[in-house]
Order: sequence, then structure tokens, then C-alpha cells
Amino acid sequence: MSKPGESFETQIALMLHSADFVIKEQPHRIMHKGKQIGDLDVLAQEPSSGEIIGVSCKDWHGQTPGSEQFSHLVEMLEFENLKYGIFASSGDIANTLPLRAEHVRNTKGINIVLLDHDEITRLKKLTYSKQATDIEDYFKTRLGLSANKRRTVADEIRAQKSVTIGRTVGCERLLPINFWNESPRYIMNNHDLVPSDSTLKLEPYLVINYRLHVQALHPGTGKINSNDVGSVIVDATQGAILSENDPVFKHLIKYYTNAETHVSVQEKGFTIKKTESFVNQREVIRIVREQIAAQNEVRTHYTTAKNEQRQKIVRPRADDVRIIGPYLIYVPVWDVKFNLGDKTYRRIYFGYDDDDVILDEMSKCQIKSCENDTNSICLACHSTTCDNHNRPCLMCSNILCEMCAHVCVDCRKNFCNEHRPQTVCGICRSTLCQNCRSVLCIECKTMICSNHREKCIQCNDYVCISHIISKKYALVAKNFCSQLCFNRFNETYRSSGVFGKFKKILKK
Ligand SMILES: [Zn+2]
Ligand SMILES: [Zn+2]
Ligand SMILES: [Zn+2]
Ligand SMILES: [Zn+2]
Ligand SMILES: [Zn+2]
Ligand SMILES: [Zn+2]
Ligand SMILES: [Zn+2]
Repeated sequence: MSKPGESFETQIALMLHSADFVIKEQPHRIMHKGKQIGDLDVLAQEPSSGEIIGVSCKDWHGQTPGSEQFSHLVEMLEFENLKYGIFASSGDIANTLPLRAEHVRNTKGINIVLLDHDEITRLKKLTYSKQATDIEDYFKTRLGLSANKRRTVADEIRAQKSVTIGRTVGCERLLPINFWNESPRYIMNNHDLVPSDSTLKLEPYLVINYRLHVQALHPGTGKINSNDVGSVIVDATQGAILSENDPVFKHLIKYYTNAETHVSVQEKGFTIKKTESFVNQREVIRIVREQIAAQNEVRTHYTTAKNEQRQKIVRPRADDVRIIGPYLIYVPVWDVKFNLGDKTYRRIYFGYDDDDVILDEMSKCQIKSCENDTNSICLACHSTTCDNHNRPCLMCSNILCEMCAHVCVDCRKNFCNEHRPQTVCGICRSTLCQNCRSVLCIECKTMICSNHREKCIQCNDYVCISHIISKKYALVAKNFCSQLCFNRFNETYRSSGVFGKFKKILKK
């Protein structure tokens, strides 16, 4: 494929191109504070991951590139924050370099593929025989790019199959389980969060319905009637009556009639903890009756014939409280833990209706203690985020949080780690996206963001803050890209009349 006169760099670029890599720049100049400090002969991009590969080519005819040249490549890759490199020589490569490359991979996480004459010849043969996918595989495997591919449906199915199937637990009367140990429904961007630890608790409660009719004879006016109908829920392990504010009370009172009989549940990647009830139901009913009777005391005030104020208290008897039930019902409650990176979240919710929640550490946005409702999770740091604090990547729409997204300093568009633009402002090193990286300093050709450039008043080209020439005209600062532009402006300024001068000062 190499034609006469084709440079070694071009040969390598063509080879990468035939393997479906995108050639971004050839060469790529590395600038720092307005000065070129080095270069990479080719900058290529692997299209599916978006990863950038920096290539160094040595065409030295007889001389063997060694440690010094290799170190220079490592330094340039580090400077540009690249994790992948190719070190190619048209001849041999010093035999110490394979070990060096391994060391750099282990200590810095930078993958560098070494290509010498023989290896390049072998790859060229593949190119001639149109085995482009083989070359693609060669580079991807060597660079370690195929290892970090996305999770596929097949991976998911394999993961599900590895879930351990455990014992089956039977329940006499159980609220059916409609919701499982999955990612919360309000998280829109990741339905594959796998809990690290899940327990399904089956907890027994007694639902007791009662009816009480109280009749008190008012000495003056006759009868007073009072009716009370309601429900009491008793924790059937402790024997305690639940307060009406208890989340279990609120849940069970809505749904207890939906309980199903003789249900069995099988452990599938979660543990079932069923609590048995040992309370004496007769005793529980006795206590409930007494409590209800006490709550329904009737007090009436009347005046006697002697004009005295009297109070009459009628306390219903416990036996007057009519009981329907009790129903012993098991309530399924999930206790699920997510370990995501260095975050852990715990969620305790009801299996019948997961809108009823006891504890949910994922429900609020975690960015800057914002506390809005969560609707997504950052795929980088796993912070839960609200609508205001999530930042979808412009390229892949993966959602990150405000802290993890890479933002173009000029247009404020967001990018994930994978699609983060590799180009930066030569002055402040802030990220500049593809659309915003078009402005170069006319003097030093460094890419510059809008904060670090000025327009030359004479030629309208941009100049970086290191090369700017600023002069004051009647206290108004004017910017020039070069001495030449300044001289031109200055000459016409001096030769014009007062009105002309005034116009020049106002010019922007
Ligand atoms: Zn984040
Ligand atoms: Zn927020
Ligand atoms: Zn992305
Ligand atoms: Zn931009
Ligand atoms: Zn800048
Ligand atoms: Zn400059
Ligand atoms: Zn100029």
C-alpha cells in the first residue's frame, strides 16, 4: 500500500484507517502556554468507544529508537490525557521496550502497542488481502479496547441465570408481591442496577375490625347514641398496636382485603426471612376491646332540678365491642442494598405497592445537597440526580451528574468520559468541543477558548492572551495580534483628523 514518496507516518495512518479507525490529525501539535512542546505523528480515534490513540512514528534508517523516544511518547500521551498509544519504527525497536511498555501499562494505565518493521510488514499483508477486520481486532485487542465494551443483552441473561435459586417459603395469607428487588422505577436511565444484597421479609400482622354502639341515657333530654367502627392493626410478633401514622398501618389498611391464601415464594437471588407469630390472639383481642371501650367514653352535662351542674360518664363495657376478625396477614417488605462504586443505598419498601416506602436512600438528588426528587443516576459516580443536576452526554446520551460531566468551556455542552473531547484551550487547558475548537491564535496557532483570546482590531483575526499587543488610545485599550497590525492602525490613527481619530477609538 505504500507508494513511493509516501511518508512512514502516512503509511501507519492508512493502515489504521483501513482498520476502521478515524484519523483525526496528522500530525497533532502539542501546545502549552502558546508554545509547541512536542507532537504526535498521528491522532486516531476508535469509533465505537471514541477512544483517542496517539501515534509516534520513527523512520530512522538504520538507527534504533529506544528508551528516550519511548519516554517522550509516554510524556506526550500523559500531557494530552490519552490512555492509548502506538510506537512504530520503520526498522527495529530497542529490545528493552516491551518491558517498558508493560511497566507503563501497569503503573500509568497507558496501553502502548509497539510496531517494528516485521510486525508492520505482517499487518500490511493483511491490508493487501482486505482482512481489515483482522487488523481492527489486532489493534483493539493489543490496546485493550475490546475489554471495556458495553454490557449486552446476552451478558444480562447470563447474569440472571447465575442467580441462586433457594428455598421456597409458604405463607397462609400474604399480600401478593407485585414489586421485586429491582432498580427503583423513578430512575429513568438505568434499569439494570443489580442489588448487592436483598432480603424479602414476610412479617405477620393481625387486622382487627370492630364495631361499638354506645347508648347513654341523658337525664334531661333522653338518649344519646354513639357509634364507632374501625380497624386496629397489631404487630403479631410483638403484640403491640400500631399507631395510625405507622407506614405498615397506612399500607395494610388500604390493601389487607387483597391478601391471598396459601401462597409460596421462592428465593431467587434474594433471601426470605419469614417471622412466625407467637402472640396469643385471645389476649390481643381482650386488650383491643378494652382500649376501644376506653376511647369511647361518653360524657354528658346536665342541670338538675336544684339547678346544679352535673356530669354523667358512660363507659361502654369491653364486651360491648364487637370484633370481626382477627385476620393474620403477612406483609412482604423488601430490604434492598445497592453497592455502586463507593456509594451504598438502602431501600425498604412494600412488595405489594412500592409507592409505599419505609426508607429510601435513593429518592433525593445528592448533588450539592439539593434534595429534589431523583429521576436519574450518574453512570460515573452513581450519585442520584434530579432534573436540574443531570447532564446527558451530547454523543451517547448517557447521563452523568453535574460533577462528572466534561463541559465545553465555550458552549457548555456536556460529554461523558468516553466521548470527552480531547482538545483543550492551550492557555487554560479547559475542554473545547468539536464546534468550539476552531479558533486558533493567528500568531502561535494554539487553540484558544473565548476567555483567553481577543480580536485584533486591525485584521479581525483572533490572538491568544500571550501574543496580544494592547495599546491605549485616549484611555481606551485596543488589542492587536502583531506589531505589524499595531503599526498599521497607529499610522492611520496619527494621520487622521480629530473626527477620524474618534471613529477609530470607537471601533470594536
Ligand atoms: Zn457523577
Ligand atoms: Zn439536584
Ligand atoms: Zn458519551
Ligand atoms: Zn463547545
Ligand atoms: Zn482558555
Ligand atoms: Zn498565541
Ligand atoms: Zn491583526
